[in-house]
Amino acid sequence: MKRILVSGGAGFIGSHLCTRLIEDGHDVICLDNLFTGSKENILHLMGNHHFEFVRHDVTYPYSAEVDEIYNLACPASPVHYQYDAIQTIKTSVMGAINMLGLAMRVNAKILQASTSEVYGDPMIHPQPESYWGNVNPIGIRSCYDEGKRCAETLFMDYHRQNNVRIKVIRIFNTYGPRMLANDGRVVSNFVVQALRNEDITIYGSGKQTRSFQYINDLIEGMIRMMATEDDFIGPVNIGNPNEFSILQLAEKVIELTHSKSRIVFKTLPHDDPKQRQPDITRAKEKLRWSPTVELEEGLIRMIEYFREHRV
Ligand code: NAD
Ligand code: UDP
Repeated sequence: MKRILVSGGAGFIGSHLCTRLIEDGHDVICLDNLFTGSKENILHLMGNHHFEFVRHDVTYPYSAEVDEIYNLACPASPVHYQYDAIQTIKTSVMGAINMLGLAMRVNAKILQASTSEVYGDPMIHPQPESYWGNVNPIGIRSCYDEGKRCAETLFMDYHRQNNVRIKVIRIFNTYGPRMLANDGRVVSNFVVQALRNEDITIYGSGKQTRSFQYINDLIEGMIRMMATEDDFIGPVNIGNPNEFSILQLAEKVIELTHSKSRIVFKTLPHDDPKQRQPDITRAKEKLRWSPTVELEEGLIRMIEYFREHRV
């Protein structure tokens, strides 16, 4: 049994990770300020004496004796991370410094939940980890993209300078149960709109692409990455390489929900990446990992979840 800290543990990904770690027999501390996370997400764990929720903002230092840290704290939906851009970048940068400082003091292994956004609007397709990206440093997405890039830099420097045992994964668009109905990201938006028979809002022409990964595949990749030898630090892309246009996604959601929704086209936000697909060669080789849930199956599970929760 290990003592494991999950920052951002009450969010969408964090709550699934906490659940898996508890199932695997570990002691889990979930650190979260509940900005986009909720107690609902971790309600099923609250009575478990191996699970502890601590309301805390990672921009302030935190101390606990732990063996491993998963650093997930940071709003991930553009709507939420742009709501308070300064707090977003502080969360990524100061959160990384505080969590790395803790890892250093207690000699814990620490994994950073980085993102495909470090590639920005990519000029290379699909994106391998060796690609440095094409990121606007002064745009509306920069608080998130540059915050996450700086966090990766901090991880590498704490490793080089202080021998902190780090792991960096770059997560590509992930969806699944426990996303908030008002999360703002595309899969949850479309499923909720379809179930309510409301207009499905495509930003721009809908020709832009994303590669969507189901939550369970991501969690498996995270656990495998943390379990690798200390000399393997990443970064590693974790995502599903099957790429879809946003229009294809909208059509698929309408088909699976038998919705009466119409598709409507809205303004494309600034700096919206045109395409995105992970090259997962490294994850396959080093983690023996590849995704197992394809889009249709994952969407069906997510639709079921939102139906049960009566959105
Ligand atoms: P989410 O918004 O559901 O979860 C983020 C969690 O962090 C929330 O519970 C929120 O309350 C918490 N948080 C935010 N600021 C905090 C602070 N200052 N102190 C403490 N807690 C704070 O988003 P998610 O999709 O679960 O994303 C989790 C992590 O994975 C994020 O770091 C995100 O950047 C990364 N990621 C997610 C995706 C994806 O597609 N879901 C893709 C790439 C990277
Ligand atoms: N998008 C959309 N309608 C929505 C929400 C998002 O067309 O209601 C588009 C968005 O402009 C982007 C893609 O879907 O091109 C993915 O958006 P999301 O916010 O989920 O993730 P990210 O852009 O960070 O990959």
